[in-house]
Amino acid sequence: MRKYVIMGIQGSGKGTQAQLLAADFDLVHIAVGDIFRWNVEQHTKLGAHVRRIMSVGELVDDEVVESIVRERLERHDWNYGFIIDGFPRNARQAEFFLESYDIDGVILLEMPDEDVAGRVLSRRICSACGLDDDVAGRDPAEADVCAACGGQLVAREDDNPEALAARLRDYHEKTKPIVELFERKEFVARVDATQSIPVVQTEIRRQLGL
Ligand code: AMP
Repeated sequence: MRKYVIMGIQGSGKGTQAQLLAADFDLVHIAVGDIFRWNVEQHTKLGAHVRRIMSVGELVDDEVVESIVRERLERHDWNYGFIIDGFPRNARQAEFFLESYDIDGVILLEMPDEDVAGRVLSRRICSACGLDDDVAGRDPAEADVCAACGGQLVAREDDNPEALAARLRDYHEKTKPIVELFERKEFVARVDATQSIPVVQTEIRRQLGL
């Protein structure tokens, strides 16, 4: 059983790296942002609650986030473990999490702020398969076609300069300080996220002994 948390600034590749790890080690990838986006698309009551908060790049209230995470983990469909992405995002969430779960490792993807805007503003999500794609430098004729499945790529509503500025501010003020909390209790694998996707993945596995 392996239980990991993946952290990092916006655009550092958390989702991509978590999916690669999950696929090879049979881990369940739990992305809190994806759960919220699904609810927005499906027009659920939760979706109606989080839609405006997300679109301006603010954090959803802790009670809501914690109940979503608790509910998801209580499904116990993670026989081989899980990798959780986008949570915890502040000290209260981290304390709630550490009280209930033993974590085997925290992956911290490190990237300078200067690299964030370029990556996030060229990021698209496939509306068919849900994978992240990067359209930087791509031929305009193919810029909205998913490289994996041919589906239609769309930009996230919060991948705009204003919402991004709010998300970056929260990352530095609220999320980054919890790395110290994890460092006191858990093993934190710090990885340079400016490298290519396979290099970052190899380095994560090396540091986690996988
Ligand atoms: P993400 O896909 O991780 O960037 O999350 C997208 C948005 O969902 C965030 O900007 C927040 O509005 C919300 N969200 C996701 N995870 C959390 C969390 N742990 N705490 C509060 N809000 C969250």
